[in-house]
Amino acid sequence: MRRPLQPTDWGWKLEDILTPVNTDRPIAPDTLLNMISCGCKADGCGLSCGCRKMGVHCSAVCTKCTGQTCNNAAPMPSLLDTKREAE
Ligand SMILES: [Zn+2]
Ligand SMILES: [Zn+2]
Repeated sequence: MRRPLQPTDWGWKLEDILTPVNTDRPIAPDTLLNMISCGCKADGCGLSCGCRKMGVHCSAVCTKCTGQTCNNAAPMPSLLDTKREAE
C-alpha cells in the first residue's frame, strides 16, 4: 500500500489551495485517471491491481499490461461482436 508524498511531509505549510488527500475516494477525477497505472503481470491485473482498485480500466500507461493484455483492460468496441473467452 503506497501513499503519495504530501507537501506537508516536506515541511510545507498547509494553505487554502492545499487540501488533505482522501485516499479512500472510490473514483478519481478525470484528471487523475490518466495518471493511474499499475505494474501487474502482462496477463494479470486481478483483485490486487491498482487500476482495478481505483475502479478504472487499465490504460497504455500501465507498465506491463499497457491496458491491452490483462483482465482489467477496457473493452474494445471493435471486438464486442467477436468476444471470445479463451482461457
Ligand atoms: Zn494491473
Ligand atoms: Zn492492467
